[in-house]
Amino acid sequence: MFASGGVQPQPNPMPTSAEHKIRVNSGEYPARDGLLHTRVYSQKERTRRAALAWLGFWLLAALSIPIVVAHLILIPAFLIAGPVVAYRRLKMREAAEKATGFCPVHDGEFTMELEAGDTLPIWQPCPECHAPLHLVDALVDNTRSEKP
Ligand SMILES: [Zn+2]
Repeated sequence: MFASGGVQPQPNPMPTSAEHKIRVNSGEYPARDGLLHTRVYSQKERTRRAALAWLGFWLLAALSIPIVVAHLILIPAFLIAGPVVAYRRLKMREAAEKATGFCPVHDGEFTMELEAGDTLPIWQPCPECHAPLHLVDALVDNTRSEKP
């Protein structure tokens, strides 16, 4: 019998990655397929990343003490940012890394880097032709059914 919580031990400490199917839309061009590449964090990694963020911001708060004029703003800001960013990192199970796929506008492959906090759906310019691309989770994309 498994203990409650459903957390299974991670035999492999290396970070794991995942791929999700996405749809790439741009205006009236027909939607194309793509992949969202993400990094999956284990419970241990999330805890470590949260602790590092908290420590980092409080270190910045301590370093701000000698800055005479700015420390009235910087110290409370860093003291608050520490636990806030740590909480967000603790909750972040998966972080976006990049998206690959076919651009419907220039009809070629693209690879775009994404920020860790980026979530679908998202508008991003195509790195090749700079056309605005709408990246949507393929499982929730219903734009095809709207068109005849
Ligand atoms: Zn393009």
